[in-house]
Amino acid sequence: MRILIAGAGHGGLAAGAILAKAGHSVTVVEQKAREQLGHDWEDRFTFSVLTGLLGITENDLPPAIWRDRGDCTFVSPDGATHVDIHFDPNSRQRVMWRKPLLNLLLEHAEACGVSFLFETPVTAPLMNGRRVAGLHTKAGELEADLIIDAAGVFSPVRTNLPEELGVEKSPRRGDLFYARRVYYDRLPGVTAADIPFEVYLRHAGEQGLSWFCTNPDSVDVLIGRIDPLTDAQFDEHVSRFRAAHPWMGTQIVHGGQNGVIPVRRPLTRMTADGYAAVGDSAFMTTPMNGMGIDLSLRAGKLLAETVLAHPDCTAQELWIYNREFHRLYGGSTAKNAGLKSALLSLPAQDVDFLFAARVVESGDLAGGGQNVSVPALLGKLKRGLKNPSAFFAVVNGLMRGARAAKLYQRAPKEYDPDAIAQWSRSIERLDLPID
Ligand SMILES: Cc1cc2nc3c(=O)[nH]c(=O)nc-3n(C[C@H](O)[C@H](O)[C@H](O)COP(=O)(O)OP(=O)(O)OC[C@H]3O[C@@H](n4cnc5c(N)ncnc54)[C@H](O)[C@@H]3O)c2cc1C
Repeated sequence: MRILIAGAGHGGLAAGAILAKAGHSVTVVEQKAREQLGHDWEDRFTFSVLTGLLGITENDLPPAIWRDRGDCTFVSPDGATHVDIHFDPNSRQRVMWRKPLLNLLLEHAEACGVSFLFETPVTAPLMNGRRVAGLHTKAGELEADLIIDAAGVFSPVRTNLPEELGVEKSPRRGDLFYARRVYYDRLPGVTAADIPFEVYLRHAGEQGLSWFCTNPDSVDVLIGRIDPLTDAQFDEHVSRFRAAHPWMGTQIVHGGQNGVIPVRRPLTRMTADGYAAVGDSAFMTTPMNGMGIDLSLRAGKLLAETVLAHPDCTAQELWIYNREFHRLYGGSTAKNAGLKSALLSLPAQDVDFLFAARVVESGDLAGGGQNVSVPALLGKLKRGLKNPSAFFAVVNGLMRGARAAKLYQRAPKEYDPDAIAQWSRSIERLDLPID
């Protein structure tokens, strides 16, 4: 079988390696040059997911490319309330630099037989009737039996699919964070291990999320907003952080790039005849924090296993991957989306209240909006009644997330486009629009 992977995204590389090793012809078509891939920053994820795919142990990872992850604290918009999250020392995620991470995946894919066309932008899918039959690229048309779309949030494959395939094409306002991430030098005066990773929801009252992470040798600052960030906005927030953290220096030591992070539930329908999306192109991240590497790698493995078992890659066969992803992971990420949307829609002072009154707790923030049991909701009710509109807005977000999660976990068993469209609509009705 001929397989083309649009973009050298994480999930595509993971799937490609498995499929090439099984004897299929796999080519990644990537817009950038090889040495330009990745970013000059670190990512938190579960190392065992990566090492399992690469067939190595964690001891094989060079110590220079990773570090341990500390605890985390969510900070209210006014900075007055911190909600601490303590990770289990045995299972906590760790942190790896992005370029070495991509290099590991690339080298493994190459060793398994994957070919690469670098500096070759994809412009659109090549259609044959309702089947995705290849890619239009700047180097001409390329035909294939399967297109794996790993070209990220704005994938030109997904956004140019014919409407009738039922794959949602464009994110809505609030579905993405536009972020800039910069590492500054660290001045003496604090011990990194004593300062948790600080995540600011509705930072400075704005719609978005920021973080401040004190590392042994630097401080890592991310400012993310639901609308594109201006330089002036970024500089203002950096000054604010510097005033509150006197150990933050002024020299840029890493990063400095912009990035776009999906913070929504995954696509309900992410497959069609000859087409499957993985990773950010299918919005596979945890909405509250935008983490997507674990999910992309897991999806890549699941997709490859489905294709090996069902090599015709019809819409019907690829639906098995689509449905299974939602059963295993889509539900828990969708659960998190309702709370995220509720918190982004409320005035910042209401979010301050929800933090201070412990209506929003660590289980909600870390665990994907899990606290919807009757005793948990009664506890929140008791604490939240001083501000009923904020309380009910957040409970509404939690309940909608919980209902969406159930629907994701029960996607139609059989491939039936009408039933799938109806199921998608019932999930969309649970979305909370962000003003
Ligand atoms: C600032 C920031 C911090 C993050 N931190 C974390 C974290 O700590 N932990 C975590 O799990 N996740 C994190 N994420 C999210 C994570 O980056 C993604 O969820 C994850 O990388 C999966 O994305 P992907 O590989 O599918 O797509 P991408 O990483 O976007 O890769 C897409 C690839 O496709 C290529 N491409 C795009 N368009 C074309 C085209 N037209 N033609 C050919 N190639 C194309 C791109 O060049 C790129 O190589 C972060 C994201 C950002 C922006």
